[in-house]
Amino acid sequence: MKSLEEYLDLAQKNHGHMCPGQVLGVRMAMLGLGKLGIADPDKHRKRLLTFVEIDRCATDAVSLVTGCRLGKRSLKYLDYGKVAATFVDLQTQQAFRVVARDDAREKAKTFGGNPGDPYRQQLEAYKVLDDDELFNVQQVRVKLRPEDMPGRPRSRVACQECGEGVNDGRESRVNGRLLCRSCAGESYYDVLDGR
Ligand SMILES: [Zn+2]
Ligand SMILES: [Zn+2]
Repeated sequence: MKSLEEYLDLAQKNHGHMCPGQVLGVRMAMLGLGKLGIADPDKHRKRLLTFVEIDRCATDAVSLVTGCRLGKRSLKYLDYGKVAATFVDLQTQQAFRVVARDDAREKAKTFGGNPGDPYRQQLEAYKVLDDDELFNVQQVRVKLRPEDMPGRPRSRVACQECGEGVNDGRESRVNGRLLCRSCAGESYYDVLDGR
């Protein structure tokens, strides 16, 4: 595993700026990997799966350190609005969920140096506070379905309403027809124009 400083350097380049979220994300991932006993994530890309619970700054850093990516199906995004991530070792089925403590924010505000600059103070505090002060860790079991795993798609069907292809069992059966989620009534968009 690289050092915190090395990861922060890479995280800043990857994310576009340095922020408290990069520090939290890097540390969350280092802690989670440490719990799994994975010392060098670069060597264990195929073994790792990460669930992130928020679509904010920290997620970029978690992805950077673990090497888990949405496009590889090794990064799963759950819209829970929590600064939390679960690190799964597919080889041992072990998993640890790391969640940022809310009281760490308060602690960071009273941290020494940079008085009058709470943002900077928070950023620096997150680098040096103990893991226990920043995070809670739970050992968990994650229900993984074959159709959620990385690798080739397990299935592909055409939606019987719009005709668009649907991978990995994400279709629904509605009144005997196989429909994509959009046509099944879960659409997040309304079509204005196009075909
Ligand atoms: Zn950021
Ligand atoms: Zn459809």
